[in-house]
Amino acid sequence: ASRYAEVAQAAPIEVFAVVKAFTEDTHEKKVNLSIGAYRTDECKPWVLPVVRETESAMAADTTLNHEYLPILGLESFSTAAMKMVLGEDSAAIKDGRATAIQTLSGTGGLRVAADTLFRVLKYNTFYYSDPTWGNHRMIFLHAGFTEAKQYRYWDGESRGLDLVGMLEDLGNAPANSVILLHACAHNPTGVDPTHDQWKQIAEVIEAKQLLPLFDTAYQGFASGDLDRDAWPVRYFADRGFELMITQSFAKNFGLYNERVGNLVIIIKDPSLVVAVRSQVTLLVRGSYSNPPNHGARIVSTVLNNPKLFEDWRECIRIMSSRITAMREGLRERLEKLGTPGVWDHITSQIGMFSYSGLSAAQVKYLVDKFHVYLLSSGRINICGLTTKNIDYVAEAIYDTVC
Ligand code: PMP
Repeated sequence: ASRYAEVAQAAPIEVFAVVKAFTEDTHEKKVNLSIGAYRTDECKPWVLPVVRETESAMAADTTLNHEYLPILGLESFSTAAMKMVLGEDSAAIKDGRATAIQTLSGTGGLRVAADTLFRVLKYNTFYYSDPTWGNHRMIFLHAGFTEAKQYRYWDGESRGLDLVGMLEDLGNAPANSVILLHACAHNPTGVDPTHDQWKQIAEVIEAKQLLPLFDTAYQGFASGDLDRDAWPVRYFADRGFELMITQSFAKNFGLYNERVGNLVIIIKDPSLVVAVRSQVTLLVRGSYSNPPNHGARIVSTVLNNPKLFEDWRECIRIMSSRITAMREGLRERLEKLGTPGVWDHITSQIGMFSYSGLSAAQVKYLVDKFHVYLLSSGRINICGLTTKNIDYVAEAIYDTVC
């Protein structure tokens, strides 16, 4: 018998199972509102023109080679990425309190962060929002964390933030718990705290000596403005927290499969930076040894060149405005059809996702009857909507809700 004979079949990962079902569906009107990836109005993935241009220049540059990057990555990339999130004038950067490490996209950054917190600082408790991105819990558990706790976040009644519940849950967290926060464009709800609410959240985290970790997967992609989307992170940094920030360049650069990410660690005493980096070096060495070059070099080239940087900012404005237009279009159509319920949350939520409020049974009906695919939580990827399918989707939702 095989030594694998007793291995049980694991449950499929929902989002990839939905994409597979969509791909296999032959219905001409099928619509994919599941996976978190940008689509053009032609429903196609978009390679940003500034990325194509940079890649062409890289291909022609015979001075580039395929030598290993350092274990902690391409420094010109990680420093530029850190400045992008903390701001050019960041006191933490000027004081030498902030340090950055290239990672395997946002997921890899979260894993290196979790490994560092578990193995080096010996932390074992983490809190994530209810609900959150489907991978947060597993990343921390696989790193060794034993206490996975949730804080209240989504209020189904108001289709907004449950601030009172959130503050209460954070207030009851033991010291040194890691608090996973979404910097902007909360996945899956699309609901972000206001500036005043962030201040209240910071107060509890400070009073209870918790460790904030900002997952920043959508900077610039949410509002179209890099600085605006980074506000919560900069606010926490300016307040003097020791904090961690993970950055993903999957969405805002459209570099999903290149795995471009960054981990920023802010440390109170700059003299400790070298020791912390040396420990992270060992963790990475024992994990994947060295990060890949291609995507990081693209991002580094763009962020460090004022002309290319401006071109890129125009690309993120294009993406975020298409998303905003689709949000408005969907809400308008649902309201015009007289769809029961309130739909203003579709335009008040931000980023690529909308927590529609549709139940799992309604989602199943949408898939079976209309071939409109979304996650059972009712999360809609707004990027899957186009000027060509938006009427069809609105009518399908109307029929489902009625
Ligand atoms: N965090 C959140 C909240 C996300 O939505 C995502 C992407 N779906 C990620 C992190 C990480 O994605 P990636 O590893 O592709 O950068």
